[in-house]
Amino acid sequence: MDFLRPASWEEALAAKAEHPTAVPIAGGTDVMVEINFDHRRPDVLLDLNRIGELHDWEVGEDTVRLGASVSYTRIIENLRSVLPGLATASHTVASPQIRNRGGVGGNLGCASPAGDAHPALLASGCEVEVASVRGTRMIPIDEFYVGVKRNALAPDELIRAIHLPRADGPQQFSKVGTRNAMVIAVCAFGIALHPSTRTVRTGIGSAAPTPIRAKAAEEFLAAALEEGGFWDNGKIIPPAVARQFAELVSGAANPIDDVRGSASYRRHALGVMARRTLGWTWDEYRGNERSARCA
Ligand SMILES: Cc1cc2nc3c(=O)[nH]c(=O)nc-3n(C[C@H](O)[C@H](O)[C@H](O)COP(=O)(O)OP(=O)(O)OC[C@H]3O[C@@H](n4cnc5c(N)ncnc54)[C@H](O)[C@@H]3O)c2cc1C
Repeated sequence: MDFLRPASWEEALAAKAEHPTAVPIAGGTDVMVEINFDHRRPDVLLDLNRIGELHDWEVGEDTVRLGASVSYTRIIENLRSVLPGLATASHTVASPQIRNRGGVGGNLGCASPAGDAHPALLASGCEVEVASVRGTRMIPIDEFYVGVKRNALAPDELIRAIHLPRADGPQQFSKVGTRNAMVIAVCAFGIALHPSTRTVRTGIGSAAPTPIRAKAAEEFLAAALEEGGFWDNGKIIPPAVARQFAELVSGAANPIDDVRGSASYRRHALGVMARRTLGWTWDEYRGNERSARCA
């Protein structure tokens, strides 16, 4: 097995162009497991760890540019106020050791339906910056997941960064696992309220061949909030609306029975998580509105 260690982004792109089957390795928390268990034996490993810019982030006025290799620990420690959904999801990944090494670029590279970053990324409406020697393109997150553990990257492309809108409202993430830590999601749910556009976005993990949004649920809730004047009056969302939202989230899932849980349990759990996370985000929104009015 050849081990390439480019010292710059340009060198990495050139190496990937020359060896399109080379497997990039960032934190290695997925790649090394696959190699150690002999699930994968690549001819070439492309180590991205000498490329400093992949570990950097920039907080702009409207957007956060997150380098592909920024670790979950750094997201939790530094970006909670601007990316609360992703920070909460990061907190549920594995253990401190894995969170120190692993990052969102690796989660996207794997594109496992169970990856914890995906529901938060879908709910935020981010874009993935990918590049090759041919140039750079931005892939909307809705177009990134193309099949079971398959993403929209061409063989010569690498993920450079993720561009996430700064949170303009409350965001939540919830995950069901068979224990409290070091656990692959049985299913997971992310929600982001976007008061600036009066929209709601969601993300579902581990309950379909790819991470998905619950679009009918989003549209239903946005319409109900608009019709009831809830964004302005800050009233409690009626239980019937929350119930319908939860049912639509459950209905969006396309889960399977497997060792981690049954399809029917996953559907049920998603409905519960949808109702709870909606309650948490809406309470936060109402609290923020009240404080703004009193200030
Ligand atoms: C014990 C253990 C527990 C875990 N628990 C969780 C968990 O709770 N939740 C969860 O979501 N994940 C979990 N994981 C999986 C893993 O930690 C995550 O998927 C993590 O985000 C991978 O990041 P990484 O940097 O280590 O990726 P790597 O292992 O380096 O790479 C992962 C994949 O992405 C590709 N890749 C990496 N960087 C790039 C890039 N810049 N451009 C293109 N492709 C790239 C690689 O080629 C590979 O296919 C766990 C893993 C272990 C070993």
